[in-house]
Amino acid sequence: MQIQTATLGYPRIGKNREVKKALEAFWSGKLEAESLRQTIHKVEESNWKTQLEVGIERIGIGDTTLYDHVLDWIFRFGLIPQRFQQFSGLERYFAMARGQEGTPALEMTKWFDTNYHYLVPEIATDILPADFSDFIETVSRAQNILGKKAVPIVLGPCTLLRLSKVELNIDEAVSKLLPLYVNLLTELNNLGIAEVQIHEPALVLGDANSWKEHFQTVYNSLCTVGIPLHLVTYFDDLGETYPWVIDLPVAAISLDLTRGRNLELIKTHGFPQNKRLGVGVIDARNIWQVRPEKVIPVLQEIVESLYGTSLDIQPSASLQFVPYDAKREKRLPSQLRNVLSFAEQKLQEVVFLARTVKGDNTKTEQEFIESTWSTFEEFSPANQSIQERLKTLKIDDFQRSLSYGLRLDSQISLPQFPTTTIGSFPQTSEVRQLRVQYKRGELSQSEYEAAIDAQIADSIKLQEELGLDVLVHGEFERTDMVEFFGQQLPGFAFTENGWVQSYGSRYVRPPIIYGDVVRTTPMTVREFKVAQSLTQKPVKGMLTGPVTILNWSYPRTDISRQEQAFQIALALRDEVRDLEAAGAKVIQVDEPALREGLPLKPQRWSEYLSWAVDAFRLATAVAQPQTQIHTHMCYCEFGDIIKDIERLDADVISIENSRSNNQTLREITEGGYSHQVGNGVYDIHSPVVPTTEQILQQLRTGVANLPVKQIWVNPDCGLKTRRWSEVIPALKNMVEAAQKLRQEA
Ligand code: GLN
Ligand code: ZN
Repeated sequence: MQIQTATLGYPRIGKNREVKKALEAFWSGKLEAESLRQTIHKVEESNWKTQLEVGIERIGIGDTTLYDHVLDWIFRFGLIPQRFQQFSGLERYFAMARGQEGTPALEMTKWFDTNYHYLVPEIATDILPADFSDFIETVSRAQNILGKKAVPIVLGPCTLLRLSKVELNIDEAVSKLLPLYVNLLTELNNLGIAEVQIHEPALVLGDANSWKEHFQTVYNSLCTVGIPLHLVTYFDDLGETYPWVIDLPVAAISLDLTRGRNLELIKTHGFPQNKRLGVGVIDARNIWQVRPEKVIPVLQEIVESLYGTSLDIQPSASLQFVPYDAKREKRLPSQLRNVLSFAEQKLQEVVFLARTVKGDNTKTEQEFIESTWSTFEEFSPANQSIQERLKTLKIDDFQRSLSYGLRLDSQISLPQFPTTTIGSFPQTSEVRQLRVQYKRGELSQSEYEAAIDAQIADSIKLQEELGLDVLVHGEFERTDMVEFFGQQLPGFAFTENGWVQSYGSRYVRPPIIYGDVVRTTPMTVREFKVAQSLTQKPVKGMLTGPVTILNWSYPRTDISRQEQAFQIALALRDEVRDLEAAGAKVIQVDEPALREGLPLKPQRWSEYLSWAVDAFRLATAVAQPQTQIHTHMCYCEFGDIIKDIERLDADVISIENSRSNNQTLREITEGGYSHQVGNGVYDIHSPVVPTTEQILQQLRTGVANLPVKQIWVNPDCGLKTRRWSEVIPALKNMVEAAQKLRQEA
């Protein structure tokens, strides 16, 4: 039996965020396109060398990107919507990614159940000529460095279509795309490439079985090119598609063994001897070191049941979801650092496991890994009080004391079409500098707080001048909406360099939950009080919800996600109570990541939603009836979970909408949502300032769909990534639009 090692993609932002820095310099006109490309090349070449040196035998390449790998394929295949055809080259590329005056960007949405966002392809009848030259150039460069080990990664046609907005029917779209893929594979074949990875994660979605014929048509045709195809799936199991997927005419198939029940499927249905199986046993979505005593037996089981099949040991998906190198995290306690595994460590684990399965004696290594785990377990003790509190929760703890209809009238009274923002204001370099100086000890706590308070005061003054109705303090003290809370909660750890890409040039450093979470002191009350003391208008208390904190962190694997969410919810519950005591009449608990945590297969939704919604309720139900609870969600479709959103029992929800043409609002309305809705009136991800007229137009859709008393007016997300020069006129127009509407109503 042949056993080798492979990767399915690698972090592509640069170990020191080189790509972000270069992109931002390019956008602000400080860097030439050529230097931008060079930065990308350097990053990807260093990635290749790392993988080569560790001993990976099939190295996935070609996933490095200027913004998004899906956009790259949209671009290469010439799937350029009409509105971008006026631009060319990089200008076109970035217009599609970020929009331009009068030209809205492609829609952006979450990549499966990850916190990575991709741009949604729009496929129309007329498409421009394909151009693979940049990809071919990358592949040749990779061949120079990696030789036969270079394996190009291509986004599969069925997944591309499944994720697209398609004007044609799928058969027509397939027949348009297929010849392009054939050309691409032919070009790759001409380069003498050993094989191509075709990523088809759409195969794990709930509706994949209905794509059976498309997959068969596509792969029957692609295999005629003659280049060996490696069909790659991840994020869940193949489910009912397994029996026909393993019969597709490809040379290799990769399965995610860290999620879902692929192992069971392999054992039940077997796996064809004439294909190679890619065994994704190293979790590409979490940062914990492998537990040899758990993984080795699984591998051995596979080896025994598939005797004779060749296997590749590999990460479960692209490693883009984990940072580069855990060893750099010198500030973390060594007991924790030693059980962390980022991309570089995962490469070593892949090699270690392959050696073990091949029969090398790796006993010493295994024992060493196990000893780091025991040291960690002693270091991270359980918190008795939180465990006790969880055990004694009662139904009432999840239930506000009065139902929505009954508590409504006791809540704060506001004008029609009340205006507000989602929470954050621009994180200027001045603000970021403040936090850096404080962290470095160059500012004392009182100096730092005074400086933050000055920012808060400016923002309150501005919001009053703009005439907003419900104000926010601006979140100047927060680096990131999850990190800020995690940093104050025992049980969370933070990295210095653990960046992962969220979208484009936006990277996040997900916290690591490594122990029981408890709140020891108020986290947001001081800034709330400062803000509220400066105005008669209500200021929103601003919290990140338990499910979002969990979903945007790397979770523990020793207790359930539900238990972790409830621990966080209890911490937030105490915060809600303290904010109320400090005078908050309105408290917003953001849950932008609630939906992305949905399992990919709808059969598993209800189980998740049940505890996720309960976690939100546990955090907020403590609020008095007079306190107006808001929540905020972005980047998703809600149509199918309206009932669950209603069960959150928030008084007001603000949602992202402007990028999906009022689709969200329609869904909310059709779903019979009865609480108040702030349907985002403009896209904050674009630097374009919306006109009053555009906002009015957007609002009128709201009025046409919802009773006036349910409607709020707000941007579609926080404003931290924008400049003041964009925010001020945009909000001015927004308030003006609301005022005009009030006069009409
Ligand atoms: N309150 C947060 C902010 O305004 C919400 C951000 C989000 O939804 N991603 O930044
Ligand atoms: Zn948002």
